[in-house]
Amino acid sequence: MTRHDRPIDETHDPGLRSWVDSANTAATDFPIQNLPLGVFRRRDRRESPRIGIAIGDQILDLALCAEAKLLDDLSQSVRDAAAAPRLEALMALGPSAASELRSRVSRILRSDGGIGDRHLLVPLDRADVQLPTMTRGFTDFYASLNHATNVGRLFRPDSPLLPNYKHVPIAYHARSSSIVIGGTPIRRPSGQIKRPGQVEPVFTATERLDYELEIGLFVGAGNALGQPVPLADAEEHLFGICLLNDWSARDIQAWESQPLGPFLAKNFATTISGWVVTLEALAPFRVPARGRSDGDPVPLSYLVSPSNEAAGGIDITLEVLLQTRQMRIEGHAPHRLSTSSFRDMYWTPAQLLTHHTSNGCNLEPGDLLGSGTVSGQTDDSSGCLLELTRGGQKPLVLPTGETREFLADEDEVIFRGWCSRPGYARIGLGECRGTVSAR
Ligand code: CA
Repeated sequence: MTRHDRPIDETHDPGLRSWVDSANTAATDFPIQNLPLGVFRRRDRRESPRIGIAIGDQILDLALCAEAKLLDDLSQSVRDAAAAPRLEALMALGPSAASELRSRVSRILRSDGGIGDRHLLVPLDRADVQLPTMTRGFTDFYASLNHATNVGRLFRPDSPLLPNYKHVPIAYHARSSSIVIGGTPIRRPSGQIKRPGQVEPVFTATERLDYELEIGLFVGAGNALGQPVPLADAEEHLFGICLLNDWSARDIQAWESQPLGPFLAKNFATTISGWVVTLEALAPFRVPARGRSDGDPVPLSYLVSPSNEAAGGIDITLEVLLQTRQMRIEGHAPHRLSTSSFRDMYWTPAQLLTHHTSNGCNLEPGDLLGSGTVSGQTDDSSGCLLELTRGGQKPLVLPTGETREFLADEDEVIFRGWCSRPGYARIGLGECRGTVSAR
């Protein structure tokens, strides 16, 4: 049985309420039905990082739960993994371990029969949320047909898609050392740029800094080198998801990326949100894989399964907001630039993971797969400025009257994501924030 076939259980019950009052409000990303995992440290203490679960505007501290003997009925391996300073050990144990912990935490936090002890909580605003894993492998895909078409059209108006796109999930190996947690300032990178009309390149600060709205997929249990993961098993190896901003310097990218693809245009920083929403929490929001249009090739058989077609997609609404320095000074709220949905991706998460391992490449617990920029079909659903401004030719106008072709210093980019469906509690991914700083 694949993960998305699993029944929705009592932890998803929309009637569940928590003794943490802020978790019961309609607006929260972290109701008791979500229970995302993260790593944090209290700001006012010198303590080692520990694993927590976001609930309303609080964090349930698993170290304090263990001290209070609330985790004693879990298996020893799950207890050990919950006491680790990062999430890899829990991820490595596979979905049943995450499910065991989720079930226990749900019972601790529910108002009816839970453990109403506020000493187990740390307010989110008094915690430093850290990277959840020490990711060793980071791969960035290109799984949105709309994004690939829109970007391709800028360079090849007559044939925007390259001939391989609908056959093979395209990706490149990205850089894990420069993955940073939301809130980390993003220094404007310098690099080689060849400006239009100039013969020689110059080395200077990027003039075309962009964001890319993506979903990050965390690998759970790994696969041995030489052992591909069949599509039917792929979701057993996916732990959960986060928001991911693949910052991109378009001018550096344009000059350097032929013929081997992105390099310094992308590896100066990648921001992720801190709370990892498990696939189990996402179970109510599974949708069919995006249908193929007439004339699209049927993928090769290792990328096809009935369960993937029936429920391989995830319905996640995503939005991008921008707040400039002048907007902050004048008191303007962040301005929404676009909204899109993860359900529109051409390739599903399971297909990305199976394709990655199809040659025997081994994935490890905590590895991160970027989905690629999530764009829809309309102008207001493009997941990066390169698309929104047509490569800088159609500047955006902001509430202050400022315009943007690309990002300016002190611009803050904010991603949000959430899932909602009638009959279920809305759950969210939190936010992924980053502010551009001058060199
Ligand atoms: Ca990307």
